[in-house]
Amino acid sequence: MTTDQDNNPPSRCRFCDARLEQVFVDLGMSPLCQTHITPSQLNHMEPFYPLRTYVCNRCYLVQLDEFVTPDDIFSEYAYFSSFADSWVDHAKRYVELVSQRFCLGASSRVVEIASNDGYLLQHFVARNIPCLGVEPAANVAEAALAKGVKSVVKFFGRDTAQEMVSEFGHADLLLGNNVLAHVPKLNDFVSGMKVLLGPQGVITMEFPHLLRLMQENQFDTIYHEHFSYFSFMTVEKVFAAHGITLFDVEELPTHGGSLRIYGRHAEDSSKPVCERAIELRARELQAGFDRPETYLGFTEQVKETKRRLLEFLIHAKREGKSVVGYGAPGKGNTLLNYCGIRQDFVDYTVDRNPYKQGKFTPGTHIPIHEPEKIRETKPDYLLLLPWNLRDEIMQQMNYVREWGGKFVVPIPETKVYP
Ligand SMILES: [Zn+2]
Repeated sequence: MTTDQDNNPPSRCRFCDARLEQVFVDLGMSPLCQTHITPSQLNHMEPFYPLRTYVCNRCYLVQLDEFVTPDDIFSEYAYFSSFADSWVDHAKRYVELVSQRFCLGASSRVVEIASNDGYLLQHFVARNIPCLGVEPAANVAEAALAKGVKSVVKFFGRDTAQEMVSEFGHADLLLGNNVLAHVPKLNDFVSGMKVLLGPQGVITMEFPHLLRLMQENQFDTIYHEHFSYFSFMTVEKVFAAHGITLFDVEELPTHGGSLRIYGRHAEDSSKPVCERAIELRARELQAGFDRPETYLGFTEQVKETKRRLLEFLIHAKREGKSVVGYGAPGKGNTLLNYCGIRQDFVDYTVDRNPYKQGKFTPGTHIPIHEPEKIRETKPDYLLLLPWNLRDEIMQQMNYVREWGGKFVVPIPETKVYP
């Protein structure tokens, strides 16, 4: 006879296989963040999954259980990177930086994992540097082809890496922006990078930094599509376990604070470990990232962030003010569902991505319109859901100030910008 206990053994760390016993934060039940609802689906049932993160007490990887397969999430993905102007600029600057630093040219090979709609590789194409993308979402890979960017339509892992080596050769630059956090089989993914990387090649990866997530209450960057949340110390361990040394790291402002790590084969002695990597590791140690108690206080911070936002919204509604959202990003889904914000507080939201317009936010069913709607209804407050793009949006939407409209940013804590 089996019991529930046998059927549901405690989960294990996706990197080091230790039992996961310590909850980092529990955000309750939430729908998948990219499942925007069409009008005809409004009266149907919607699947909700637990949004409960754990911290591994052995390697300190903060992580989410895999409740849904990546096929469900990523095979038709609504996120087209090219819709965010600042993101396209960021990609262009990156290409200039690495092409120069690592002397990339017509005989080099560049591979990007999760190359999306070619927003980044198009800049290598323009420089005549041979490149190839890997992208599991067929609709997004098709958009890349229109920019002259070829993609292998697959999930990346050891098997895909081996196929790519025989067809394309080893990579001199192997990059992945905002993909490492989305990988359920972390060890298979990183060992695939080891296979695909040329002997003197360089890996760069960008992902949100756990230190910033914790210091700035960015709990809404936790969603089902993000399986892992990394400190530098932990990501260093993950790569080292697969024979890759991180020799440099940059701290970037993107996505509320990201790391860009630089990796090479452990046996490649041509690139010594830089001061920046040593300094960041020391800073994380100082902040207590190697002790379980450091992770315990986060839950209370999250609850307080929710209380502050609700306090603002309740007050605004009691005064008869109108509040609308800006954006329908993944993080907005976590924020709205966790805080229980529906049309009772926010009349509608807008998004530049036509794929989302005419639909409703998952779970909370707030209608998503075109940005022009804001000019018509002249709301008192504009709640910025992609708060990481705060400056860009406030500039674009500056005209709301014509009728006295104000911007509200919910993270790190609710703040009104007149
Ligand atoms: Zn672990």
